This record gives sequence, C-alpha cells and structure tokens, in this order.
Amino acid sequence: MNQKENNKHDSQGLAYNPRNAWLLCGDDEEKMRAFTSRYLDFLSVCKTERETVRYVEETLKKAGFKNDPKADCYVATLRGKALFAARRGKTPLEKGLSLIAAHADSPRLDLKQRPLLEQVDVLQAKTHYYGGIRKYQWLSRPLALHGVVVKESGETVQIALGEEEGDPVFCVADLLPHLAQKQVEQSVKDAFEGEKLNIVFGHRFVSDEKDGTEKGDEEPKGSIKKGILALLHEKYGIREEDLITAELEVVPSGRARTVGLDRALLGGYGQDDRICVFTALEALLHGDGNGRTQAVMFWDKEEIGSDGATGASSRFLQYCVEDITESWAPGTSPSHVLLNTWALSADVTAAIDPDFQELHEKQNAARLGYGPCFSKFTGSRGKYGSSEADAEFFARLRGILNAKNIPWQVAELGKVDSGGGGTVALFLAAWGMQVIDLGPALLAMHSPFELSSAVDVYATYLAYQSFFAAM
Ligand code: MN
Ligand code: MN
Repeated sequence: MNQKENNKHDSQGLAYNPRNAWLLCGDDEEKMRAFTSRYLDFLSVCKTERETVRYVEETLKKAGFKNDPKADCYVATLRGKALFAARRGKTPLEKGLSLIAAHADSPRLDLKQRPLLEQVDVLQAKTHYYGGIRKYQWLSRPLALHGVVVKESGETVQIALGEEEGDPVFCVADLLPHLAQKQVEQSVKDAFEGEKLNIVFGHRFVSDEKDGTEKGDEEPKGSIKKGILALLHEKYGIREEDLITAELEVVPSGRARTVGLDRALLGGYGQDDRICVFTALEALLHGDGNGRTQAVMFWDKEEIGSDGATGASSRFLQYCVEDITESWAPGTSPSHVLLNTWALSADVTAAIDPDFQELHEKQNAARLGYGPCFSKFTGSRGKYGSSEADAEFFARLRGILNAKNIPWQVAELGKVDSGGGGTVALFLAAWGMQVIDLGPALLAMHSPFELSSAVDVYATYLAYQSFFAAM
C-alpha cells in the first residue's frame, strides 16, 4: 500500500481506528486489479482440494521448487490433497519457520457411494453434503461435477464436467411455490433435508427392446439409468461399481466474477479458504532466502473438523519439518524448529453483513475493505475449542504490518454468546508454535457464491509477504 500518512490514530496519536484500505491503495490500484484478476482465474479452475493442490504444486515447480528435501526450495504433497512447501532461509533453521497455513477444501455436495436413483422419469445422483452448508442455497442453480474415479486396475479418471461452454450442468430441483405451502411454515432446519439434496443427472428413457420401439399398451421396459451408464462408459470408460470408490464433488458451476458496478467485490465459490491459499502462495513465490525459512502448509478436511491423514490434526507437517531439518540442519532437533515457528493460521472471517448487522458486535467485527483481519482466538462461547495468540507475538505482527503501512483490523466471529467458529490455529499451537489467525473477511461465507473485497485480497497478499520478510 502507498506510503500515505498513517491516520489510524487521532490527532493526539492515542486513540485507535482501523483504516479503509481503499483510501490507502492510491497508485497501487492497477497492480491490485491485475492481482485480483489472476486470483479470479485461480478460483475458477481450482474447485476441489485436489485441483488446488495440483495447481499449487505445478506453480511451485515452475518456480524451481523440487520434491527433494535436499533442494533449498522444497515441495511435498500427501495423497494429492495436502501440500507443504518451504524455501530455505539464511537464518538458522533452529530459529523456526515463518509458516502460513491455510485449507484447500470447501463446503460442497459429495456423491454417495451408490448415487444413481431412478424415480418418476428422472435419474438422480444422491449426495451427502460436506461441511457447513445452508442447504437451500444449493437448490435450483447450475452445478458441476469434479473429482476422480479410480478403476480396479488403479487407472485414475479425472472429471471436471459442467464448466466449459457446451458442457451439461447438474442441479437440485427446488420445490415450486405452489406446492410449498407446508414447507414455508416449517423451520429452515426441518424444511430442507440432506436426503433430498439429489442431483438431476439424466432423463432420456432407453428401451430394453432391440429396435427401440414398444409393443402394445404396457408400461415400456427399459430405464434412464441404462442410457446414463452407457454414456459414462463411453466418455470415461467407467462402470457403476467404479462410482462406489470414486471421490466426486458437486460444486457451483461457472467462473468467479467481479461484483458491483465498480467491480470492487469478488464473487465466487470456495473463497473460504482458497483466498488464503492463493495469497500465501503468491507471497511465497515473491519471497527470498535472505531471512527466516518461509513455508506454507495447505490442508484438506478443515471444513469437517481437520481429521484424517490430509487434515491439520495429522502428522504430515511434522514429518515434512523432520525431513527438511535432517537435510538443511542435521543435528538440529525438529521439535525445536516447530516450537520456534511463527505461524499465521490463514483463514477467512465473517464481514459485518449489512442486512444482519445485529448479529455482530460491531466494534469487534470485521469490515469489508479494511484489510486482513486478525483473530486473536477463535472457538465459541467462552473461547472453548480455541488457541489464543500471545500478546508478544500479536504486537510484533502489528508492528510488521504498520512498518509497511498495510491496513489490518481485528475481529471476533459474531457476538459472544451466539457466534463462533474454528480454524487450524489450535493444531499449529499444539506444536508450541506462536500462532494467530490472519485472513480477509467474507460476506456470504460457505455459500455457493462468497464475496470478498478486492482491496482486502491484495492487502492480505502484502501482509503475508511482509510476514515472510520479517526477521
Ligand atoms: Mn476456512
Ligand atoms: Mn469454512
């Protein structure tokens, strides 16, 4: 951001006010727009954790990162769903890493193991939702199918259908208002059932008769499923049993876009938390090896509690740190490297919603356009289920951003007794690291079309870059 007068204190320099990032961006606006336009491209093509990890690994490899921990720029992936990368710095490794950790998974609808269900002239694919969704937001909108099907032979088929011009899309058909009299009187919780999030998958009836015609007045023999299975076999060489072991995710179809007449907002699926993946990746790419070792960790499974081999509660990060310690600083204890690490838990927070302002405690809530937001702790109702950053670490980070005139703000997620949420911070804190949450605020978080502020995306990138550069 521009070196304008630091106006966040009052005339006496004593009181504090957060600064509007739009007023700070000045000549940087063109750079900011170029950056956010690349971000929208990234969001449009990375709609699953696997697609995101593949994009990040390819980008890092083009920049000279290698899968070999002996190389000074190291990248490692696990099962194609989690990624660690580090650039060796001149500062001894025993001083710890400067680590930015984000998550690459987002809420969505996953296909069930036996998804195909034919009833009343429609073939549907049954789903089990993943993460915290508001079910009604997924109804009657174009959806795409992304994921992998692995055959018994081990051959993997990549699927991304419903994104290109000319591709078919999928959808969950919502109930018409004429028949929704009873539903509109139910609570939202009761009105929308997970078991009814069935994807419209096909409709063309295929006869069992060889010549395709039907005899007499009887109900015709045949099915829609027969035609769909034939199409799946023709296009991907797969059978119904292959769907059982597949990982197929149903996500909103279409590109991420600018929003508003001034294009100052960015709308798209999966900004929680690919916004932090992208900004952290860019910060790493533009870092250098002069100071502390710079690292990123992108996890999967955050939206369902961080369990599993590719989630933040796994040992993957520790193993990666052990590998680089053995290569770069033999004799150093990996546990000291972890203990001395400075970490940012890079995740989004909730911006004050103009239509639901009463749900926030406004003085301690995030605002769109005020830069990335620190959350000293997360959790809920009495700080349960949270780590909390130390005053020393938080103060140092504030100094790092102030020195570069990068706007920032602080927030809690909603009111004390009603809000709350979790991030990966507590998993990092378990290794004894210094850690705090820092990421941009979103409107409509966890919806199929989340909104961020363009200036916050750029300021988040600058904040991560300055965190990496700090000694
Ligand atoms: Mn998140
Ligand atoms: Mn989330």
